[in-house]
Amino acid sequence: MESLWSDQEAGSCKGDALKLRVYTSRLLGRQPELVLHGGGNTSVKTRAPDLFGDQQELLYVKGSGWDLATIEAAGFAPVRLDALRRMAELETLSDGDMVHMQRAAMTDPTAPNPSVEAILHAIIPFAFVEHTHADVVVTITNTDGGEDIIRAIYGERVLIVPYVMPGFVLAKKVYELTRNVDWSKIEGMVLLGHGAFSFADDAKTSYERMIRLVSEAEGYLKQGGATSFASARSATVDLIKLARIRKAVSDARGEAMLASLDDGKAAAGFSNLADVDAIATRGPLTPDHVIRTKRIPVIVGDDPEEDMQAYVSTYRAYFEQHTDGNLTCLDTAPRWGIWPGCGALSFGRSLKEAGIIADIVGHTMRAIQQAETLGGWQALAEKDIFEVEYWELEQSKLGKGGAAPEFQGKVALVTGAASGIGRACAETLLAQGACVAALDINPDITSLFDGDTCLGMTCDVTDDARLAAAVESTVRRFGGLDIVISNAGVFTASERIADMRASSWDKSMAVNLSSHQRLLSACIPYLEQGVDPAVVMIASKNVPAPGPGASAYSVAKAGLTQLARVAALELAATGIRVNVLHPNQVFDTAIWTQEVLASRAAHYGLSVEEYKKSNLLKVEVTSHDVAALACAMAGSLFAKTTGAQVPIDGGNERVI
Ligand code: ZN
Repeated sequence: MESLWSDQEAGSCKGDALKLRVYTSRLLGRQPELVLHGGGNTSVKTRAPDLFGDQQELLYVKGSGWDLATIEAAGFAPVRLDALRRMAELETLSDGDMVHMQRAAMTDPTAPNPSVEAILHAIIPFAFVEHTHADVVVTITNTDGGEDIIRAIYGERVLIVPYVMPGFVLAKKVYELTRNVDWSKIEGMVLLGHGAFSFADDAKTSYERMIRLVSEAEGYLKQGGATSFASARSATVDLIKLARIRKAVSDARGEAMLASLDDGKAAAGFSNLADVDAIATRGPLTPDHVIRTKRIPVIVGDDPEEDMQAYVSTYRAYFEQHTDGNLTCLDTAPRWGIWPGCGALSFGRSLKEAGIIADIVGHTMRAIQQAETLGGWQALAEKDIFEVEYWELEQSKLGKGGAAPEFQGKVALVTGAASGIGRACAETLLAQGACVAALDINPDITSLFDGDTCLGMTCDVTDDARLAAAVESTVRRFGGLDIVISNAGVFTASERIADMRASSWDKSMAVNLSSHQRLLSACIPYLEQGVDPAVVMIASKNVPAPGPGASAYSVAKAGLTQLARVAALELAATGIRVNVLHPNQVFDTAIWTQEVLASRAAHYGLSVEEYKKSNLLKVEVTSHDVAALACAMAGSLFAKTTGAQVPIDGGNERVI
């Protein structure tokens, strides 16, 4: 591992210990082999006068909730060193009391909570302290004989600390182990099964000692030949099975989850290993990963539902075995899975959560293979992992997350999403937490909906093959499909039946009717595996109240309504709800060009302004009004409604 230190960059921090601390903390954070997603912590000891002018000895230690890669000065909590050092002398201290005492010893009450390792940082008699969960160091300690290897690599330069729970117990252990230690002779510590510390009185030495510890471990692995990893091409992914897996995980967790498949060569290769089910289920790389990944993954076989049941039973047994009777069992769903032949799956309520898990899984798969070369992957005992998973500080966070957005973890597909009602629906679904596939014939759709949680796809809905491919891309990206807003439409120019051109008629039928049937057919197999699956068809007021000159449009929309009614009957047994919206006079949509608007207004003998509000309530209906209702119909409010037709038209005597 290379040191990223730059004299030039560090020069701008000269003389400011906290600035240097921010700088080298970020250097650590830039190397994911050292710390991942909030892991690890750093500190610096300084003296500063308080408001009375008295000099205070302070420990600036990483605050919880901050990530080393992006930390700023405000991410460090200033805590009085004497208080932390006295805490290390206590015989016992609960983690809850420790957090309170640390907060009480802070000189800035607006700073974040100090890291749970603050006491440990305080008793190390050097100005700068780095703590990482370096993959290679932990990998070596997670093997039979790992302690001997660590000793052989580092000799007496490093203090070896047997595994104990992080927090006060760890600080206390180190306090006792180092009572008679000459600190000037050591430059770091290896915490078996957990990570590494390095320290020094200047920022550069402290940081580079960590890099050196890691480089030496890397050298050992290289020498031992632990540098090759499995690689394979993924098998063809069965998307229905992917949706089934996601549904089973969602059921186990009691809320909608997304499933992200890593079918890259490294993950597919790992999933293909003959003993993958044994080596992948021995435990995590380092105990704090358990909060995000749980102890072990689910191994997906031929029957995902059965595999999930088995996982849930195993998890319950693990909880029952280790609980003291006063703990609340967390949800029993896995956070990741191995799909032999295809790769690794990550499950999250959001793509962000699934992405963090995928990163950790990527590192874990490498570590397991390296440790196997060294003689066998050995994670910490179940009981140790359980203690971290059910840590008092974690349990106290339960139920404090606030209400989740309505569509968190859900996957929606909207057609005709580049403008008007479709665009408003896609935006509303995104705002309410859904992942959204947005389809439109207008190629602008790909830039309009371009992000982690949305997938804009150019698609002519009358092209059956493209439509089916777009549905498949949606499932592949997010793991399943729960909501379909079938909205794509075209408003053909006013033509009386006697003068109807066949092309006008056929186009309206193709876009306004047949494409919806094709979409529904393509989506049903996935919706059957959806979480509270729902279809909303955007029809028209012209269905209950047609007007002359609009037969091509009205007949297609009437057919669409009938399609939805039959679909509601056919799909009720699988739990799929199908409801219909009849909007009218929604003028901020693509079909209402100024020309059409003027022609319809003239047809009724009204001005354009009068025409816009020519309803009983005298209100203008916007595409966002329709989107809000469409989303409500796709959500929990309509969980017990199917086959319904709801007008949104400001009130119309002919409809009423
Ligand atoms: Zn740690």
